[in-house]
Amino acid sequence: MIDSYRHRGMRRQLVKTLKGKGIRDTAVLNAIGKIPRHYFFDNALIEHAYQDKAFPIGEGQTISQPYTVAFQSEMLMIRPDDKVLEVGTGSGYQACVLLELGAKVYTIEYNKVLYDRTRKFLPTMGYQPRFFHGDGSRGLPRHAPFDRIIVTAGAPSVPASLIQQLTPGGIMIIPVGNSKKQQMLRLTKVSDKKIKKETFDYFSFVPLLGDEGWKG
Ligand code: SAM
Repeated sequence: MIDSYRHRGMRRQLVKTLKGKGIRDTAVLNAIGKIPRHYFFDNALIEHAYQDKAFPIGEGQTISQPYTVAFQSEMLMIRPDDKVLEVGTGSGYQACVLLELGAKVYTIEYNKVLYDRTRKFLPTMGYQPRFFHGDGSRGLPRHAPFDRIIVTAGAPSVPASLIQQLTPGGIMIIPVGNSKKQQMLRLTKVSDKKIKKETFDYFSFVPLLGDEGWKG
């Protein structure tokens, strides 16, 4: 794996594009400027790595569009040492961004092939979140509560288990909608009985499967 001058230049250009689309958080922009996204691509496809678009990673799944990763990361307002649950490990790219932001990352993937692949691959890049295989629509009760939860697949509704597993004051970012488009929601657990809900733009994610997802 080589991170050449040319790759770094393409990355700087991607960061510029994301700034142009409204991403302001310098820690998020620095993380995207640092992580070699082309390592997640086959050699023949490297030209696609620094375009602002989602890309197939096999098993019918995608590495999210850089803008989406940046947007969700910014909305999460991570503080160093926050305990973060990511639902939908996929390629592992988003997990790398969360680690660069100083979070303790717990990431869960439903698809066994992707789980096995990413769990082996990420440490070769020097990134070591805690990996789990299973249905993340139910969260990760054994390791709860979490300061932040990020869901990187489209949910039909907000899973009650995930709300339960947030700390008081905790924040969850989750796309909710139908199979074509989902609205990005930010939910803040003000207290055990009170959830503050903010709504943002529409996105298009692969479906969140499982008991509290699309029952895959
Ligand atoms: N965060 C990923 C990245 O950086 O590459 C992108 C994730 S991809 C858009 C969505 C992922 O969610 C897929 O890998 C899919 O298998 C996974 N997924 C879907 N339902 C899930 C569930 N119930 N629990 C955990 N992962 C799930």
